[in-house]
Amino acid sequence: MADLDTKGVVVTCPSCGQRNRLAFPRLRSETRCGKCKTSLAASGEPIETPDSAAFDAAVASSGLPVVVDFWAPWCAPCRMVAPELAKVASRNAGRYLILKVNTDALPDIGDRFSIRSIPTMAVFSGGKEVGRTAGARPAAEIEAFIESTLRR
Ligand SMILES: [Zn+2]
Repeated sequence: MADLDTKGVVVTCPSCGQRNRLAFPRLRSETRCGKCKTSLAASGEPIETPDSAAFDAAVASSGLPVVVDFWAPWCAPCRMVAPELAKVASRNAGRYLILKVNTDALPDIGDRFSIRSIPTMAVFSGGKEVGRTAGARPAAEIEAFIESTLRR
């Protein structure tokens, strides 16, 4: 499991178990474990956002576009999106950083971005929101939405 903090994405080395932080600006580059030098793959899974400070840091300084899934535990369509988003994350590891924001746990982020319904997916690039879509959809349509947003 990968975790997010205000400096980057923290991943566990598959070889030695060491925790390594992949700094946001360097998410695009190849990284090696600080302890055993094993090459660390880019995150291939959606990462739950722990707080708004980590969210803001990721959006502001990520070297990769950031795809944000706004969701809540009680939302049935959100639960349908979760496995689709996991497919998108694993197929596009190293291309986007995919974050989940639980709008019940972090209502200030939802308020700031005026999220009126969930699931809503937003794409950030260079610190700015470049696209948004609401509603559940399959992985291929999520990918098509992200790609069309980033081509603009
Ligand atoms: Zn290691």
